[in-house]
This record gives sequence, structure tokens and C-alpha cells, in this order.
Amino acid sequence: MSFATTDSQARIGVIERYRQYMPVTDKTPVISLLEGSTPLIKAERLAAAIDPKLTIYLKYDGMNPTGSFKDRGMTMAISKAVEEGSQAVMCASTGNTSAAAAAYSARAGIKCIVLIPKGNIALGKLSQAMIHGARVIQIEGNFDDALNMVVEMTNKYPITLVNSLNPYRIEGQKSGAFEICDALGQAPDFHAIPVGNAGNITAYWKGYKEYQAHGKIDRLPKMIGFQASGSAPIVLGHPVENPETIATAIRIGNPASWKQAEAARDESGGLIDMVTDDEILEAYNMLAGLEGVFCEPASAASVAGVRKKAAQGYFTEPAVITCVLTGHGLKDPDRAIKMAKTPDTLPADMGALLKLLGY
Ligand SMILES: *Cc1c(COP(=O)(O)O)cnc(C)c1O
Repeated sequence: MSFATTDSQARIGVIERYRQYMPVTDKTPVISLLEGSTPLIKAERLAAAIDPKLTIYLKYDGMNPTGSFKDRGMTMAISKAVEEGSQAVMCASTGNTSAAAAAYSARAGIKCIVLIPKGNIALGKLSQAMIHGARVIQIEGNFDDALNMVVEMTNKYPITLVNSLNPYRIEGQKSGAFEICDALGQAPDFHAIPVGNAGNITAYWKGYKEYQAHGKIDRLPKMIGFQASGSAPIVLGHPVENPETIATAIRIGNPASWKQAEAARDESGGLIDMVTDDEILEAYNMLAGLEGVFCEPASAASVAGVRKKAAQGYFTEPAVITCVLTGHGLKDPDRAIKMAKTPDTLPADMGALLKLLGY
């Protein structure tokens, strides 16, 4: 697929940018929305508030075309589905996977079916799946129930599963690790990341290891993953029947990539811990108020986790930490409005305005 651009500075998609690391050939039709190449933002005010000896970078993956990191994996999954002649894809989703699947399927001209847990999808995400023409079905159950149904359907019928159980999703998503290393010229000391279905921590770890194997970096980061305390199966060591958290993107009780997440933790010498909804919302507020970076609540779990570990004295020396901000704040505007101060209302009168502002 070609793009109408002559700007050599324009970004290219992750398959083109990292073609040598991706499972593609000249025959693979690249279905891309120019995802990836997202900002890596140094967060000095945030670091000063958390622990001044830390250097914190925010990998702002909400800046992807559909507003979350899921685009990195979806460009690969949909490209391979089309290459294999698939006419339909299907996923279960807490919202962002469905948004990405719907958009990339629209671009490829194939059918997309998404199952979402009824009542637990942020408004922005639902609107995306709907406007891109996906067949959206709300399940009276949670994400884990929906995923089981999708696995069963795609096993029986000629429909491609595009959840992160699809190995091409992981291949695409590992590009986030490449970008961080390319930007820093090395790996960070710690890589902080929210953990839901655990595909992304799996993908980042794979990316870092591949870059080391290719001699692009000479050491690996410690992977530090964070679940929400109401849905923390990996931390607790058993599936959570009824996961609960305001961070709906990580409201998952039985992660598909559980084993791989534990491997990332153990091989890297990192950890997987949990943060409360209050800690998540504090970090969400700090990111918005101290750095001007608006992410969705689940994304803030990475920063909440770093803050928690810093307070516990986990970081003993100066360290470079990258925090993945997985999705954009505009996905879930209701949450921001609930958190913030209600605007004042005044008549169109200068005197009243001056009085209110104290001038
Ligand atoms: C999907 C998602 C996550 C969780 O990623 P996993 O790969 O399921 O662990 C976190 N944050 C956001 C915004 C997401 O969309």
C-alpha cells in the first residue's frame, strides 16, 4: 500500500521501520496507518515529585493512530491475516483492541467481529469500533468470558483471532522496545508497564532481547509490571473470578500470556506488583497536571507502580526508567471529568470574572 507523502521526515509504520525484525516478505500486503514512532517524553517534574534520583521517560503510545499501543500489533496481525487470505477477524476486547481491529480491518476491507464486556468499555473506544463498521457484540460477562468465546469460534470457523494470543500481535508490539532503545541509544535500567492480558510485557521483553541479540544494546532492562489490585491474578498467583478496577483496559482476571509475563519478570530480575485504583488515579492526575500528558487510567498504572516502588525504597541508585503510557486520555473523557473540578459558571460580566479570579 502506498501513501501520498513526499515528506522524508514523515513517519512510517512499524512494519516498514523494523522490517528486518518482522515476519514479513515482499509478498506481505502491509496494512498500516503509520503507527508507532510515538514520542518518548522526558518527565522531569514528575521525576522530581516521585524521586529526584530517577530519570523518567514516558513512552506516549496513546499517540498511535487509534490512540493505543494496540495499533503496533494490529498492523502485523491484519497484514498477515490478509496475506493468508482471511476474510474476517475476531477479538475480545476491553476496548482498545476492538478499536484497532476495527480500524485496520476497515482499511484492509475485511470483516471484523468484536466481543466486549457489557457496560465496561470506555466511551471513546466503543465509538471507534462502531464507526469503523465492526460487528460489535456486548457480552453479559467479563473480558475473560468474551475471550473464551472468541477462541472457540475462531477454532471452529474460518475467522482469524486477533487477540494477543495471535503471535503476530506480539511481533508488531515489540517495536515499542526498539523505538525506546533507538531513542535512548541503549536500553533503560527499568521498563515499567501496565499488565492486563500480559501481551505487551511479553512483546517488550521479546523486543529488548532481540535488540540485544542483534548487538543494538548491550544490556537488558528490568521489567517491572503493574496490575490493578482488584484484578491482579499474577501477583496473587491465581485467576481472579470477578476482576474489578476503574482501569478497564487491565480489568482481566486470567491473562492469556500469564506464563510469558512471569518469564519476562524472572529473566529480567524485575517484578510484577499491584497498585490500587486510588494510586492509579493519583498518577493519572500527576501526569496530566505535572507533564501535560493525558493518558487513560490503565496507562497510569505504570507510573503509579514506579511511585509505589520508589516510596518503598526499591530504587537504590540513580536509574533511567521508561514508563509505557499505553492509551490516550481522550479514550475515557468521563473519568477525567469525574476527577477534575467542575467549571464555574458566570454571567457574561467582566466585574464578576475579575472578582472570581481575584484580580
Ligand atoms: C490493552 C491495554 C493494556 C494491557 O495490555 P496487555 O497486553 O493486555 O497486558 C493496558 N493499557 C491499555 C490502554 C490497553 O489498551
